[in-house]
Order: sequence, then structure tokens, then C-alpha cells
Amino acid sequence: MSGQAPDPAATERRAELAERLARVEDRIAAACGRAGRSRDDLTLVVVTKTFPASDVCLLAELGVTQVGESRHPEAGRKVDEVRAAGHAGLCWHFVGAVQTNKAAAIARYSDLVHSVDRVRLVAALDRGAQRAGRLLDCLVQVDLGTAGDRGRIGPRAGASGADPDAVIAAVAQAASLRLRGVMAVAPLDHDPVDAFDRLAAVAATVRDAHLGADIVSAGMSEDLEHAVRAGATHLRVGRAVLGERPLLR
Ligand SMILES: *Cc1c(COP(=O)(O)O)cnc(C)c1O
Repeated sequence: MSGQAPDPAATERRAELAERLARVEDRIAAACGRAGRSRDDLTLVVVTKTFPASDVCLLAELGVTQVGESRHPEAGRKVDEVRAAGHAGLCWHFVGAVQTNKAAAIARYSDLVHSVDRVRLVAALDRGAQRAGRLLDCLVQVDLGTAGDRGRIGPRAGASGADPDAVIAAVAQAASLRLRGVMAVAPLDHDPVDAFDRLAAVAATVRDAHLGADIVSAGMSEDLEHAVRAGATHLRVGRAVLGERPLLR
């Protein structure tokens, strides 16, 4: 940190973020209490898409270590800016849809990609991670948009209907990727309780079959309580911490 006098706008924003973060922590604590779970078993990923790198720096100063981004190249630029500002120890989660031709770049700056939803993408991420000389942690995104005893693969907007098993197997076999678990976004038009219970069933199958694949990424600002109840290990919370986003393109 520099020795300059604090900028009043930054001081105000920091207070706002601190208060919102505390409210989210209260919600998580209450949900853990009701579910008989320990707060230590949950990781809060603060999703900062559309917000500036300066907000990520303030969050880091407030103790946030897990940051989520969903858009390339915005995410990569922010990783660089935040590192240049002196916050080197953050874990960067990529939670948004990944275009195949952007996979290599995303593999370079992300620590955990939540949204692996097709076999073709697995190959592209694997090549990118290998070229970057790293082992990249990945979650397979399960589409909960349709009822059934197994989820399908694919984000709300994007490829869907694929067999999750094929994507799971591809990640598990990729030399430069590590299968760490599953992720889902609750469908807008379905009951989140039912959706997250279906995700939990898929997660249990993956965990039993693959060592270290124990992450369940579920729950956003609106539905984090349901996700905690259903056994999520990672919550992806944006607006409840940062405020409303401008409309995305
Ligand atoms: C934006 C986003 C979030 C955070 O959503 P909020 O409603 O702002 O909490 C979580 N997951 C994904 C995949 C996102 O794109």
C-alpha cells in the first residue's frame, strides 16, 4: 500500500463493502446454524464481474481471498491490475461460460474454472493449462434446467443436453486438469430446493468415483441459504456484496 492519504470515495466504498460482506456472512452463519453445518466447510467466492479492480483490492483488504469473474477478457485484465496493486495471494475463480477459443487464455489466469460444460472445452483448457505449465482445477457444470434423476450438462445459455458423465470422464483423464467437483446455477423457473438436491446427488456420485472431487459450487445472492442446506461447499455471491450490476450486454 502507498503512503498517500486515503481517497474519500475509496473509504466510503470500503465501508459499504464491509457492511454488505458482514450481512452476507450473517446469512451464511444463520444458514449453517439451521443446517447443522460448520462455516469452515464453506468457501465464499465473491463474484466481482463488471466491478472495477479497485473493488477487488478493497475486498482483499477486508479479508476476501476468493474472487470470481465470469467474462473474458475483463477477468484477465482485472487479475493483472489487482496483482499490480500488490494483492498477489488471491484465488481467482472463473464462473462464466467459456468460449473454446478463449479457453487457453482463461486457463492461464484462473485458479479454478467452475463452468466446464462440454468435452471440446475440456481439450482446449487442457492444452492451455499444459502450455502455461500448470495443473488447472476444474468443476463440471451441471444443467439443472430439466427434471430427472441426473442433471444434464450446460449453462443456462449454451450447450445443453450432453451427458455429464462424458465431460466428467474427460476432465478426469486430462493430463493438465484436475477434476475437483461440480457446479450449477439454479434454473430461474424451478424450485431451487429441488434443483440443489439434484446437484447434491450428482456431486455424491462424482465424489465417490474421483479422489479430491469434493467441491459443490452452488448458491448465489438470492439462493445461498438453499445451497448451504443442500450441501454446497462453495457459494458464488456477487450483488449481495457489491451491489446491483449494470445490465450485462
Ligand atoms: C454473476 C454470477 C454469480 C453471482 O450472482 P449474484 O446474483 O450477483 O450473486 C454466480 N454465479 C455465476 C455463474 C455468475 O455468472
